Amino acid sequence: MRKTNSEVISCPICCDYGKQCVQTLDDKTHDPYIIFRCKNCKHKWFANSNRMPYVEAKKIVERKTPNFIKWTYKTLPKNLMVPEKLSILDVGCWDGSLLKCMPNSWELHGIEPNKNAASRAKLKNIKVFESYIENTKLESNYYDIVFMMNILEHFKNPISAIKIVSKCMKKNALFFAVTGNSESFFARLFKGKWYYFNYAEHLNYFFT
Ligand SMILES: [Zn+2]
Repeated sequence: MRKTNSEVISCPICCDYGKQCVQTLDDKTHDPYIIFRCKNCKHKWFANSNRMPYVEAKKIVERKTPNFIKWTYKTLPKNLMVPEKLSILDVGCWDGSLLKCMPNSWELHGIEPNKNAASRAKLKNIKVFESYIENTKLESNYYDIVFMMNILEHFKNPISAIKIVSKCMKKNALFFAVTGNSESFFARLFKGKWYYFNYAEHLNYFFT
């Protein structure tokens, strides 16, 4: 780990200025890997604009489904009262494994810019928008449930992505999001070695 001087850069969450670099990690593929922390809201983010988006990272294509998603697949349908028809949107649906667990009678839509993953999702009879959310034409006031599972950390501007999603949700729609907690016990324990910091495609680090 190397130290760097403080730098001034805009926070993607609160847009405050006067930010401080808190750590620099050595990343084999993207050196240097500098994480910033907002002095105002304490949000952490990675600010190197040259970083490779995950949709272009071929090594990510064969990534195994994380355990928490497998858990979601098994648990979610059983815990919901199942109406005959619902419209669902999974932002960053990858190969459609989450949507595949939903009842066939539901309208299942996914957004997935990675072509390989999107083609796998289509094989599961899911309607897939093969684009980034910023370039996807979504109907306003349409979806009953929206998922953003481990996807918020990928956006350069997560606030903008959430605003787009909120427009396509019906009134009283459900929104599920999962992301890493950069102030969690393990994040504080492992610091620069925390697994979320070491994913090449993660740009934002939220906390509770
Ligand atoms: Zn901030």
